[in-house]
Amino acid sequence: MEKNIFEKIRDEEEKADIVYRDDYITAFKDIDPNAPVHILIIPNKTIASLNDIQEEDSSYLSNILLGAKKIAKQFNIDKTGYRLITNCGSDGGQEVPYLHFHLVGGLKLGKMISLSKTEKKRFNEYKSL
Ligand code: 5GP
Repeated sequence: MEKNIFEKIRDEEEKADIVYRDDYITAFKDIDPNAPVHILIIPNKTIASLNDIQEEDSSYLSNILLGAKKIAKQFNIDKTGYRLITNCGSDGGQEVPYLHFHLVGGLKLGKMISLSKTEKKRFNEYKSL
């Protein structure tokens, strides 16, 4: 099967601005940033999404959190604060089928969840059920 874009970046077959790498994770700048600091952190093992993690992946997962802390310090946002997000599946807004965490910061981040008018209406209908 053809590799997806993050597998190619991990294997250095596609260019990316890699800012951190160790035995477990690779981190690179998002191509279309939403904040002054917008880094994507991936495990060095192909895992499609949070739905696909297994017990044996725990070293990758803990190193994503430890890496996020190091990268936040590297980009001087550890004191001001930041957000670490993973999108899972279609409703979660996941575009690339490779587990990744967005590390974003460098300005005051807005609301955590921003719904379109249609989704807000759906949610209000759901609440009144
Ligand atoms: P998702 O929506 O799956 O959580 O996030 C995918 C992210 O990957 C998006 O923020 C998008 O800008 C980023 N992205 C997609 N293609 C590339 C690429 O080729 N290189 C880099 N550096 N980021 C990418």
